[in-house]
Amino acid sequence: MSGQLKGEKVFRGIAVSDGVCRGKVVVMHRSRRVITKRHLADDSVVPETKRFEHALVRTRQQITEVQRRVADTMSSNEADIFDAHLLMLEDRVLIEEVIKIIREQKTNADYAFHTAADRYIAVLEAVEDEYLRERAADLRDLTGRVLDNLLEVKDQFDLRHLTEPCILVAHDLSPSMTAQLDKKLVLGFATDIGSKTSHTAILAQSLDIPAVVGTKNISEELETGDYVLLDGYNGTVIVNPTDQTMFEYGQLAKIKASLDEKLREVQHQPAVTLDGKIVHLSANIEEQGDVEAVLAHGAEGVGLFRTEYLFLNREQPPTEEDQFQVYRAVATALQPHSVIIRTLDLGGDKFASNLDLAQEMNPFLGWRAIRFCLAQPELFRAQLRAILRASAGGNVKMMYPMISGLDELNQANTLVEQCKAELRAEKIPFAENLEVGAMIEIPSAVLIADALAARVKFFSIGSNDLIQYTLAIDRGNERVTHLYQPTHPAVLRLIKMTVDAAHAKGIWAGVCGQIAGDPVLAPLLIGLGVDELSCAPGVIDEVKYMIRRLKLAEAKALAEFALGCESPTEIAARCMEFARQTAPSLFENKAA
Ligand code: PEP
Ligand code: MG
Repeated sequence: MSGQLKGEKVFRGIAVSDGVCRGKVVVMHRSRRVITKRHLADDSVVPETKRFEHALVRTRQQITEVQRRVADTMSSNEADIFDAHLLMLEDRVLIEEVIKIIREQKTNADYAFHTAADRYIAVLEAVEDEYLRERAADLRDLTGRVLDNLLEVKDQFDLRHLTEPCILVAHDLSPSMTAQLDKKLVLGFATDIGSKTSHTAILAQSLDIPAVVGTKNISEELETGDYVLLDGYNGTVIVNPTDQTMFEYGQLAKIKASLDEKLREVQHQPAVTLDGKIVHLSANIEEQGDVEAVLAHGAEGVGLFRTEYLFLNREQPPTEEDQFQVYRAVATALQPHSVIIRTLDLGGDKFASNLDLAQEMNPFLGWRAIRFCLAQPELFRAQLRAILRASAGGNVKMMYPMISGLDELNQANTLVEQCKAELRAEKIPFAENLEVGAMIEIPSAVLIADALAARVKFFSIGSNDLIQYTLAIDRGNERVTHLYQPTHPAVLRLIKMTVDAAHAKGIWAGVCGQIAGDPVLAPLLIGLGVDELSCAPGVIDEVKYMIRRLKLAEAKALAEFALGCESPTEIAARCMEFARQTAPSLFENKAA
């Protein structure tokens, strides 16, 4: 298909994952379902009923087709979903009710079906029986398919349809969809919305896929088949790049290759400043497969294992045994380095369809992370037991996300003690002295950091959330991304307070949010006294390169300046100036 845009055109967005790629675009169209009630003339009632029946037949064909196409790769659990959908499609009670609404209210089929199915879904969601509640999700899915057929909305995009390498363009990509991207087929992606610290962006970095988000309208302007060059360093997508542009990128690729050479040299060197300060530099991972990259980049173990990704894109939550196998494999592979396993942080922008996470008005302020886990003790205990069991065979530590007060910490610790008692009774080995830490990502936790520090072995500052909750800026919303300022004096003071509270109690404090992986901000964090930096494996080399070129004394001076400065932009500019002077090679492929 040829594109609608002629000549070169540049889309600007937010650079979230480094790298340059070029290729043909596949646009994942957003389905817009607008259901309005229309009144039917008497003689339209019968044709409208037929239209409904036809949509059911069409839906049946589509489901059977998908089922047939993926039969080889599907587990039996996945196959069951399609069977359940087909059965629901034949539910006479639902069908009769829709036809009754069409006839009696003389209204359009999509409105009638939407009304009847919604009623059904509400009933299923309200029942105690877990099995029936899960069927509500199936019915919602199925309702979408039938409505798409009635409204003639294009199929929801299925990543399994990709057959050759491309650059994905979408209005948005959810973290669970991003987690499914196949690097061999998706060279890069660009979205209309999103921001630097959304979990979609974090995953792109982890997968090492160049990405640009927050372009506002790229998914509407581009068509499948358009040719683009995507620059994940500078946040641009260039459609129909001219020869001159291609030449310039060729030059940049050469500069990048020489930088890569320099970065490779530090891969297995220690992260130590010129004046001898050792910084613990570890990696953030999302799945077992990331271990390879952790080892390749010479990270000192894992500072953040986001375990919630084990729960996404599967029919049933993983069992204790499933989790144990993964945690043990990661811990064994990275010995003697430590692996900090973060307990489940679902909610916010990460939803597992296999768990009962209701839609909320403010998910980032809602039923998320430790709050969700404490309300689901059985689910939580399975994870705690799995982590404890894995600690027998590796250097495992554990931390809780989103701690806002002492009660949560105490409740979680009580559950850990119960799990330990069970394991002792069952004669299952675990490390009695497993270290437990708290993530500091809510301002209230900073303000009571002295009390928390007395009860844990370490702090890990989740700056992505700490910034969001301090400044009241949604971390995933590109409209307010300019206000999401890591160098805001309030944020820097909170980081300093956390570090000081930790050190006063003799424990260490690290940072595992995105700022830890930014070579421009790493010197500032080190100057503020942070002991550990944990970041995506792909950016470890750059951070280490920077560390090995700076002096602790200079980093402290930078932090002192920042703590005395009132302007976030001035602090950011000073950090940039310092970074460019200290390690100019890191910036040669980035715009000034
Ligand atoms: C953070 O909030 O900085 C963090 C590391 O956790 P996540 O990004 O997974 O919320
Ligand atoms: Mg967080």
